[in-house]
Parts: sequence; structure tokens; C-alpha cells
Amino acid sequence: MSDNAKEILKIEHLFKDYDNTPVLEDIDLTVNKGEVVVIVGPSGCGKSTFLRCLNGLESIREGRITLDGEPVDPNNRSIYKIRERIGMVFQSYDLFPHKTILQNITLSPVKVQKRDKKETEKEALELLERIGLSSHKDKYPRQLSGGQKQRVAIVRALIMHPEVLLLDEITASLDPEMVREVLDVVLSLAREGRTMVIVTHEMGFARAVADRMIFMDGGHIVEEGSPDEFFDRPKSERLRSFLKTFDYEG
Ligand code: ADP
Repeated sequence: MSDNAKEILKIEHLFKDYDNTPVLEDIDLTVNKGEVVVIVGPSGCGKSTFLRCLNGLESIREGRITLDGEPVDPNNRSIYKIRERIGMVFQSYDLFPHKTILQNITLSPVKVQKRDKKETEKEALELLERIGLSSHKDKYPRQLSGGQKQRVAIVRALIMHPEVLLLDEITASLDPEMVREVLDVVLSLAREGRTMVIVTHEMGFARAVADRMIFMDGGHIVEEGSPDEFFDRPKSERLRSFLKTFDYEG
């Protein structure tokens, strides 16, 4: 990381409980502008909860999350503004079934950000063009494959011009042949310098896209490092045995 790297998202001493059961314990993480951080770990270790905290979708017990110095706090009125600056894409694409692809993409920028409809549609079409789906603009979500819907969901997040993009297992519910087309879109976003925090089980993709890898287990960050260190020279036994479960061949 260069010395002049600019911090954009900062998490300090984050603790999160569900019903008095600790789920995240003392998480510290700083994400720099343009950095791609990939989080992996066993199911139930708190990855998804962590991403939801970063977007202010979960209240936290202790600690502090800031975006460019501003608090990400679901109890603060400013949270709606902050959420526009932190885009999130989920495993389930959550497109509106009764709206066309173009309407799905333009709804939030026009309604929430009060942007000009024509200008927004133009941008939506450019983004759809980029992911090879402009000819599908007037279709409804049910007429698209899972991979196509997930690419639309990414575009729907991008059109809000987020400063940080959070991706939560976005290929987990896709058929294997569609995983590649979605991951290729994410790789191209990484190449253009987007700041992203990604949770995934796709280890080959993780290694290709990450600037930094994080291993979570039992609500803690157990290990972090460059992709090469992480995959080739894991320090902890827990990470070594986790990577073995993927039969990962670097
Ligand atoms: P991961 O994404 O790593 O699979 P999650 O963040 O989904 O893990 O879950 C972490 C832990 O928190 C799990 O034990 C899960 O059962 C629990 N959990 C997640 N969401 C809730 C919720 N809304 N209410 C209570 N417990 C939850």
C-alpha cells in the first residue's frame, strides 16, 4: 500500500450481538480508496453480518464505523445519505418483478437522489451496454437468467455512484455456468479502481481480485494479508484447514 493511500472506510473495535450472543468481536479494519478487500471464512462466522454493519443495516453494540470520517450509524438521521454512498449487492438480486430492467435501474437515482430522468436513463443504458444487456432493457426480471439479473443488480448499485461497493456472496445462488459472467464484471470494476469489500466462496476469483484477503472465523478477523501470502503461506492452522476444504490450487 502506498504511503499516500487514502482511508475511506474505517471500522474500529466493532462488537455486534444478536440476542445477547456475540456475533462480531473487536473487529478493526481500514479500507483505502481504490482497494479491494475480500473476506472469506466458514459459514456462520459473521461475514454477512459484518457487511450489513458497514452499510448501517445493523445496529452495533460497541465500536465505530466511519465513511470518509462520517459515522455509519443506523440510529442517525444521516444514515440514508450514507447508504447512498455505500452500495450493496446481495446474493438474492431483489429486483422489482413488475418493473422493467431499465425501470429497476433508474428508480432509486430518480426517486431518491432526485436526478434527471433522461440523464439517468442515458447512464443506465451505457451501463447496460457495458455488461452486454442493453437489448434486455424493456424486459422483466423473470425473463432474464440468474447471471443476467445479478449483473443488473450490480448496475443498479453502480448508478448511485457509490464510493464503496459491498458484495455479499453475489454468485452463491447462481448455476456454475453463470458465475463467470458475474465475476468478470466485478473484475473489471476492480481494474477501474473501485473500492470494494467482497464476501465470496470463489477462491480463484478472490485471489485474482483482492488487494487484501481477510479470514474471519467465530466473529473475529483471524488473519489477513496479500493474496499471495494468504493462499501460499497461511500463518494460522485455522486458515490452512479452511483453505483445504476448498481443495484450492493456487
Ligand atoms: P456468514 O455470513 O459468515 O455465514 P452470518 O453473518 O450470516 O454469517 O451469521 C453470523 C451468526 O449470526 C450466525 O450464527 C447466525 O446464525 C447469526 N445471525 C445472523 N443473522 C441473524 C439474525 N437476524 N438474528 C439472529 N442471529 C443471526
